[in-house]
Amino acid sequence: MELNENARVDTSQVDDRRGSGGGGGGMGIPIPGGGGGRGGLVSIIIAVLVALVGGGFGLNAATNGGGGSEQGDNTSLEQKCSAQDALKQLDCRNTLYVNSIQAYWRTAMPEVFGEQYQPSKTVFFSQNVNTGCGAADSGVGPFYCPADDLVYIDLTFYRLLADQLGAEGEFAQPYVLAHEYGHHVQDLLGTEAEMRRQQQRDPQDANALSVKLELQADCYAGAWAKNATGTADDKGQKIFKSITDQDIQQAIDTAEKIGDDAIQQRSGRPVNPDEFTHGTSEQRKQWFTKGFSTGDPKACDTFGSGK
Ligand SMILES: [Zn+2]
Repeated sequence: MELNENARVDTSQVDDRRGSGGGGGGMGIPIPGGGGGRGGLVSIIIAVLVALVGGGFGLNAATNGGGGSEQGDNTSLEQKCSAQDALKQLDCRNTLYVNSIQAYWRTAMPEVFGEQYQPSKTVFFSQNVNTGCGAADSGVGPFYCPADDLVYIDLTFYRLLADQLGAEGEFAQPYVLAHEYGHHVQDLLGTEAEMRRQQQRDPQDANALSVKLELQADCYAGAWAKNATGTADDKGQKIFKSITDQDIQQAIDTAEKIGDDAIQQRSGRPVNPDEFTHGTSEQRKQWFTKGFSTGDPKACDTFGSGK
C-alpha cells in the first residue's frame, strides 16, 4: 500500500479527544494490561470480543441520547498532518483512511442505495471517552455509536492487534475503520434499527442477527477496499497510489484473527457457536472477500439468502 503524499489530510473528519496535555504523538500510552500475564489476557479477550462490534454493544445506550458533550481540540493534529512528513504519523494516516472511506461512501451510497451519505467523524481518544452510548474505555476496542453517529478509536488498539493477535500489517488499520464506517452506513440505511427490532421480536436469534450485521460490515469494508484507489481528497488528489494483493491479504488475515471461533480458542474456552456475535473466521474472511471481489455493497446481503 502506498499513500499519495500529495493528498490533503482532512482533519475536520476526526475529533481529537486525546487530551490537551501533549501535542506529541499521542502514542506513548501503554496498552492497559498489555504487559501480558493473566490481567493482560483478560483485557485482550474483552477488547477483542467487543472490538469491531460497533453498534454500541456492551455500552449503556440508556444514558444521554444526545451524544458525547466533549469536543476535541484538533489544533495539534491539524498542524502535524499538514507537515511534509505527515504520512509518517499514525494519526495522520488514519485520518486519511477515514477521508478515503467517506469519499467512497459519498459516491457509492447514492449510486448503490439511492440515498445521500451523511458524513460521520471518527473520535480519537485515549483510555476513556464519553459517548452518546455511554462511557467507554479502550478495553472495548474501536466501535460505532449509533446514538451520536460517531466512530470511536483509541489508536493504541492497533498495537494490541499486532502484538497480541498477530494481525500485523498496516492494512489492518483501514480495514478496522472501514468496518466501523460500515456500521455507520447500516445506521443510515436503517439496517441497524431493523436488526434491533428483529432481535426484540426473536431474542433467541439475537446473536445470529448480530453476526449478520457484523459480516455485512466486513463485506462493506471489502467493497471499500476494492474501490479505495479511486478515492480522492477534496482537490481531486488520489489518496492511495496503490493497494497490493498483500494488503488485501492483511485485511483478510485480520478478519480471520478476530473471528469468534478463533477468539474463543485463543482464550482457552470451548468453541460455542451459540455465543458467536461476529461470525467465524471463515465467515468474516468470506464476506470481506465477497465485498472485495464484487466491489459492490449490494452483494453484501448477509440478511438475505444467507449464502
Ligand atoms: Zn462491527
